[in-house]
Amino acid sequence: MSELHQLSLVELAAGLRARRFSSVELVRACLERIDRHQGTLNAFISVTREQALREAQAADRALAAGSAGPLAGLPLAHKDLFCTAGVRTTCGSRMLDNFVAPYDATVVARLRAAGAIMLGKTNMDEFAMGSSNETSYYGPVRNPWDPALVPGGSSGGSAAAVAARLVPAATATDTGGSIRQPAALCGITGLKPTYGRVSRYGMVAFASSLDQGGVLSASVADAALLLREMAGFDPHDSTSVDTPVPDYPAELEQPLHGLKIGLLREFFDAGLERENEQCVREALRVYGELGAELSEVSLPHLPLSVPVYYVVAPAECSSNLARYDGVRFGHRCENPRDLQDLYRRSRGEGFGAEVKRRIMTGTYVLSAGYYDAYYLKAQRVRALINEDFIRAFERVDVLIGPTTPTPAFAIGAKTADPITMYLNDIYTIGANLAGLPAVSVPCGFVRGLPVGLQVVGRHFSEARVLATAHAYQRATDWHRRIPRGYA
Ligand code: GLN
Repeated sequence: MSELHQLSLVELAAGLRARRFSSVELVRACLERIDRHQGTLNAFISVTREQALREAQAADRALAAGSAGPLAGLPLAHKDLFCTAGVRTTCGSRMLDNFVAPYDATVVARLRAAGAIMLGKTNMDEFAMGSSNETSYYGPVRNPWDPALVPGGSSGGSAAAVAARLVPAATATDTGGSIRQPAALCGITGLKPTYGRVSRYGMVAFASSLDQGGVLSASVADAALLLREMAGFDPHDSTSVDTPVPDYPAELEQPLHGLKIGLLREFFDAGLERENEQCVREALRVYGELGAELSEVSLPHLPLSVPVYYVVAPAECSSNLARYDGVRFGHRCENPRDLQDLYRRSRGEGFGAEVKRRIMTGTYVLSAGYYDAYYLKAQRVRALINEDFIRAFERVDVLIGPTTPTPAFAIGAKTADPITMYLNDIYTIGANLAGLPAVSVPCGFVRGLPVGLQVVGRHFSEARVLATAHAYQRATDWHRRIPRGYA
């Protein structure tokens, strides 16, 4: 029999129900793996050992009594920007090093209500700003495929933890690619739902018109299981949308025959490494064999998505992060002389370099003299990108392309040059600007490192996107590969 860490979330759920093992055994196995590998990977900021074991005992009682929820006894980790009552939420920042939220984020509350158990909070880029998990106050996360490489960001801790099978799945957030990009670089599945599908209540805000919570998991079927519990209207989030939540796991087996797949011409550009492109083209051949119809489509404004994003996201972040003033919560400097000194030193000490760069850029593009030239123009181009997508989806059901231009890169390789770092997001940002659902799944290896394939769908078509990606995982076994040393 496979060891517990080799089983998918779906298999673990079935095993718990059949009482082949207990939730306490499962949680202990995960905690042992975290203990063994945390020193190398640095995937966790907090591990909630005692609480997890207590919850596992309760889950075992509920499973025995037949009153268990759909995720009863399944261990998960949460990206450390989901507020968790009584457990520290740092957002990867010194600013929130001492912050303990008084309430659970809606995502956390829903997963808990479904019976899931929290094992801990995962490392991340500071305030989710980054593409490599190197901006964290708690140090970089390492890629389980090669500890000299980045896991991708900003949800790098969640991605590394799942890739190394320390936890079967984890929550994450995606503002410009932070679920899909680390999924690609760590060889796992990452789902970013439609903007508004999952409540943002209790998710520490970075760029509110782009942020969306989602899942990192070993398979699409596992992501579907979690999305069904996470998704849905929340009166606490005015941008969450009041439409019914489909039974995602039940809709996974939709046939692909006749599915219209669009290949985004702009995704196969000069920046895409040739070996990455070969993996993606090979995946497209698999789709052809499965009966899908492939055609090329063009989104003429898509190449502008990186500059648009790096105006809009910093603008929103500069406003969202104004609340960290050292007065009510978060870091406060020692012995402030006066109010100005309190603000200046609390923020100066609490925020890292990348966060400061974004706040300054954002404040600049929103300032009276530059608002029209930068922010307003960026919003206009954002609308054009959105229209491009809507037009493309009149012709095709899903768009498929690469998730990232290259596989994982060395820690430190891009930290000195923010623009090079920002270009990692070139294929993911479009879906955030347009609010579309997208998933990344592993589709091969280059130099022994995983490569991601991205599927983007119409608004609220998560069921279609998941079914498309699931069909690929039924036909291939890339998603079953576990890095050496962790199998
Ligand atoms: N890499 C992008 C950024 O640094 C996206 C981050 C994210 O999705 N949270 O803004």
